[in-house]
Amino acid sequence: MMLTKVKANKVTYTNPIFNKMTEEEIKAYQEDLLRKQLKYVYRNSEYYRRKFIKAGASPEDIRTFSDYQNLPIFMDKTAERISQQESMERFGHPFGMHLCSSPDDIVFTGTTSGTSGVPTFTYSFTEEDVEFMNRYIRHMLDYGGIHAGDRLLFSHSLGIYATSSILFGVRSHGVLPIDVDVRAGSKTILQYAMMTKPSGAMMTPSLAEHLITRAGELGWNVRDLGLQAIFTVGEIGVGVPEVKKRIEEAYGCRIYDYLGELGFSCDSDEYHGIHCVAPDLNLFPNDLIDPETKQPLEIYDGVIGERVTSELNLKGLPRIRYATGDVIQVFTSECPGCGFKGRRIKFVGRADDMLIVKGANVYPSAIKKVISTFVPDITGELRIVLNNPPPRVVPPLQIKLEYNSAFDRTKLPELEARIKNALHTEARLTPEIIWCEPGTLEKSLTKTPLFEKNY
Ligand SMILES: [Zn+2]
Repeated sequence: MMLTKVKANKVTYTNPIFNKMTEEEIKAYQEDLLRKQLKYVYRNSEYYRRKFIKAGASPEDIRTFSDYQNLPIFMDKTAERISQQESMERFGHPFGMHLCSSPDDIVFTGTTSGTSGVPTFTYSFTEEDVEFMNRYIRHMLDYGGIHAGDRLLFSHSLGIYATSSILFGVRSHGVLPIDVDVRAGSKTILQYAMMTKPSGAMMTPSLAEHLITRAGELGWNVRDLGLQAIFTVGEIGVGVPEVKKRIEEAYGCRIYDYLGELGFSCDSDEYHGIHCVAPDLNLFPNDLIDPETKQPLEIYDGVIGERVTSELNLKGLPRIRYATGDVIQVFTSECPGCGFKGRRIKFVGRADDMLIVKGANVYPSAIKKVISTFVPDITGELRIVLNNPPPRVVPPLQIKLEYNSAFDRTKLPELEARIKNALHTEARLTPEIIWCEPGTLEKSLTKTPLFEKNY
């Protein structure tokens, strides 16, 4: 199958009214929704009322987007957890004091499996919310060529997790989900896929990669699944050109990266980031803050900052001025792949993982991205050695890498020079590389630690 196209299909906004608007008109439209939403959350939630009062402001004071950015951050993961603890104690429900509807009206709740162990019921929606969001999923499926009557392999951790809400959108498109919990194991997932012949699939990029190998071991080939599109979420994978290429070539189909309802990447050989198709759902990605100082950042092509989410049309548990901890890069220029004129974003890393080396912000994901281009000379496993608590690192930054067992060790100095050169050019880093024997850095399919902490 030929994947190379002269020009990718143009991504459009989900709500067609935006396709004819200028950037200024879209902003005005968002400000309108924002004013309405701020009044709504103020009237309906004690949490948001308290936040406004503490800031010495009322919703009526917020006329423009810049007025809004003058407000302090209203919430982050920690504040959300406290808010949910309070509603459990006072009202016997886990959604938090920022709930704006009756808890009886919540028809879906999805948690994030946070590292600290206590789940947060961040994705809790009313029926109206679910219906509103379904349109974005339908739009993405349509773009990827998945239509009513098709089947779609859906392999994530199912049940109470956030990703399960996507299933409403899939079903509302007339598409039959083949929802096989990822914990069933790769053989079961492949078996169901072989039997049901889905035309699309939704999974993480690392599962998509793992299935290629696993299918081979079982004497199958993922290409025989006949997929037309794979939609991946939750990892940086597709942003790494080698990963995107490897998956697309193995399956013989296009891979699309998406971020819930907020957007998806286009049908282009090269990855141009997630196209933000939902300005009526979220202020994203226009509200950015400095990950360290939490002060608002001005948007320009290529700016990097922490993503603040503000949900504009949701009624159940809208997040308002919520600092997500995700660090993204925003692009304001037209997409070179498909000509989409709206905003695009790429993931850079987590604010918590940020390091500061010689005054510059460095994200482990940026290092990982550079390193992965040297596979198979190296295994791709890496550890960043921290001798003191982050974020500040006394240079040089130490990075542990494994050379591959097939690699000629006499050529290590030459390889090391190439890696250092690439890290210098791509990530402005001059690290010290510590070579490890193949297989000595522990590998995990889910969350491999990025850091080796020696403090
Ligand atoms: Zn594009």
